[in-house]
Amino acid sequence: MHSSTPQLRWEADVVIVGGAVGGASTAHALATLGVSSIVLERTADFPELNRGDILQPLSLSLLERWGVLRHITAMGGYDLVASGFHHRVRGFLGEWGFEGLAMAHPHQTVLRHTNLHRALYAAFAGHGDLVTVHRGAQVSSPLFDDSGEVMRGVTGTIGGELFQAVGKVVVAADGPSSRMRRAAGIEFEQLHTYDFEYMMPTCPRPDAPELEHRTMRYVGGDGLTMLIPLDGGTEVRVPLQIPIAEESYWRSLAPYDLWQRMVERAPVLESVPGEIEGGLHTYRVHLSHAERYVKGNLCLVGDAAHVVPPTLGQGMNMAMLDADVLAAVIRRGLDDPGTSLDLYNQLRRPTNEVVLATSHEQTLAQSATGPTVDENVLRDYAWLADPVRRREVAERVAGLYNKTAEQFGILGASGGVHQ
Ligand SMILES: Cc1cc2nc3c(=O)[nH]c(=O)nc-3n(C[C@H](O)[C@H](O)[C@H](O)COP(=O)(O)OP(=O)(O)OC[C@H]3O[C@@H](n4cnc5c(N)ncnc54)[C@H](O)[C@@H]3O)c2cc1C
Repeated sequence: MHSSTPQLRWEADVVIVGGAVGGASTAHALATLGVSSIVLERTADFPELNRGDILQPLSLSLLERWGVLRHITAMGGYDLVASGFHHRVRGFLGEWGFEGLAMAHPHQTVLRHTNLHRALYAAFAGHGDLVTVHRGAQVSSPLFDDSGEVMRGVTGTIGGELFQAVGKVVVAADGPSSRMRRAAGIEFEQLHTYDFEYMMPTCPRPDAPELEHRTMRYVGGDGLTMLIPLDGGTEVRVPLQIPIAEESYWRSLAPYDLWQRMVERAPVLESVPGEIEGGLHTYRVHLSHAERYVKGNLCLVGDAAHVVPPTLGQGMNMAMLDADVLAAVIRRGLDDPGTSLDLYNQLRRPTNEVVLATSHEQTLAQSATGPTVDENVLRDYAWLADPVRRREVAERVAGLYNKTAEQFGILGASGGVHQ
């Protein structure tokens, strides 16, 4: 039984609800600018999650600045230079690649999602006492000041005790069904409903040169099947598009039967018979966008603000850029109270709208199903032979069109307030 007076009270510049990629990135970006934060994450341990393994080139630069990239490398981050398109009968259709892009890291890096969390947390040690983490902290509701207008923190429970965490800004990084977003009454518009979902099995990597620092995408009448090299290229994650109506059938398949179905989609898997790793949960695919990212002193980042289909691997990229820009706006606001947090909304929301539109367009193209998709596959992917078009897609995926806080000029060159 809890008494209504919190036994625990914590205070920092910023309170962050949710300590996955969005929340942990925000804490790093803030600490890099000398701003303190409290991270409240309801799971006590790092959960095994089969999602979001690919980091985009622009994210790698941010992770390097925050001191996280070396941990990713130490944990077996594997670089990917291109994404190849294949058809089970027609063979290789073409590829887009990142080599030659004017970026510090002209490649993607892949690491198991759980290990990305571990790398983000290992790097907190580099920020001294600017980041305080409380895992196992379940946030239940926001706290308002006496006017009832300004959110001054949150309350919740940890280890059976009530806590209060207060700060000048509250960041909701609590995922797609964000409790904080709902508490603030911010609309989350569902822009599109897809009729498929992804199963994410993992198996040993087939001995195929096509997977050497590359992902493989099989497109065709059954939809999209991707092969993503994991663990330094010894395993592959295989996001597999399945119709929602067939979910229980796919989930009931024995490993050998599942492998057979996977080989029908992606013949390159023939050399790894039946060795499918568990964790065959499925993920529904969404396209949703919050009507705004800021209300009062509550700011949304990551999936709490926007959810995209994983076709172009943009979810974490967006979360990290949100963190970068929001941290600079908060830093500027602490130095100059005339700065409105809404600047974050003005700068990030239009950029993310474009990323959502590109991801949606590519998702519809790559997930199309039916016999005519097989018949027209050479025509539909002929654009991969066009170097201009190929480069444009690679630049979009890499994040080249998304401005960082530095490019927006939110802070001056010295890191002080930009006048
Ligand atoms: C199948 C799949 C594949 C994907 N592949 C890629 C990819 O290759 N590249 C890419 O960039 N993105 C990918 N994504 C998207 C990416 O995984 C997400 O965009 C990203 O992980 C979102 O991070 P987040 O921190 O915003 O949200 P979440 O990961 O949802 O984290 C929210 C956190 O908040 C915590 N929380 C929630 N409520 C509370 C509360 N009340 N109190 C305390 N804590 C709370 C949760 O425990 C959780 O840890 C993929 C997604 C899927 C589903």
